[in-house]
Amino acid sequence: MLIDTHCHLVSDKLKDNLSEILATAKNNGLEKIINIAYDPETIQLGLQQLQLSEMIYLTLGIQPHDAAKFTISEAEIVRTHAKSNKRVVGIGEIGLDAYYTLSPMENQIECFEYFLEMATELKLPIVVHVRETHALVLERIKQFINKGLTGVIHCFTGTLSEAKDFLDCGFFLSFSGIVTFKNSTSLQEVAKIVPENRILIETDSPYLAPVPKRGKINEPGNLKYTCDFIANLRNISSQELATLTKQNAETLFFRLKDNS
Ligand SMILES: [Zn+2]
Repeated sequence: MLIDTHCHLVSDKLKDNLSEILATAKNNGLEKIINIAYDPETIQLGLQQLQLSEMIYLTLGIQPHDAAKFTISEAEIVRTHAKSNKRVVGIGEIGLDAYYTLSPMENQIECFEYFLEMATELKLPIVVHVRETHALVLERIKQFINKGLTGVIHCFTGTLSEAKDFLDCGFFLSFSGIVTFKNSTSLQEVAKIVPENRILIETDSPYLAPVPKRGKINEPGNLKYTCDFIANLRNISSQELATLTKQNAETLFFRLKDNS
C-alpha cells in the first residue's frame, strides 16, 4: 500500500475529475493521499475536498509564488483549521523559490518565517519547496530544529551535500517522478543513499509525471512507477520500498495514523 505524500487535488487540472482519479489511485495501490493547498483559494477547496474520501488528508500553507498575497489573517485561517481538524496533517506548501521568483524574495521570507513559527508552535511537520534556495532555507529551518521543528523537503532535486544538510537537520527527503527521468543521474545517486527511515515518495500531481507517463497530466495512481524505479535503484523490492515509505510518511505526518 502506497501513500502519495504530495499532490495537488486542488489544482484546476485535477479538481473536476476526482472520483475517477481516486478510483484509479485505489486500483494502483494507493492507501492515502496528502492533498497540498498552497494559497487562500486552494486552502478553502482542500478543506471541502476532505469530504470526498477518507483516503484524502490535507496540508495548508502559502507557497513562495503566492507570498505576495500573504497576510496574517490568511495565515491565521491555516492555524485555526490545523488546530481543529485532525485530517490537516502538516503546514505547507511553504518555502523559498529563487528560480521563478514570482513573488519578491522579501515577501517569500516573511511568509516562510511566519509559517515556520506556526508549525513549531503547533508541533506539526512542514512541507517545504526549495528551488535554488538551499542555503536560505537551511539557515531558517536551523533556527527552529532545537524547538522540535521537523518536515520534508518535497520534490527534492538538490545535490548530495545539500541532501546531507537537510538530513542532518532531521528532515525527510521526498522524491517525485523527476528521479525516473533519463538525465537525473545525480538525483538517482541521492535516492540510493538516503537513509531508509528518511525517504518519502510523491507524485506532485498534476506535475512531473514519472516515466512512462512523462509529459502527461500526473495523478496519484502513477506513484507506483516512482516506487518501482527507486526500489530498483536501492536493490529492494517495490513492496519493501512501499512499506518503508508508508511507515516514514506515518511517522512524519503522525496524524495520518491517528485517523486510521
Ligand atoms: Zn507541490
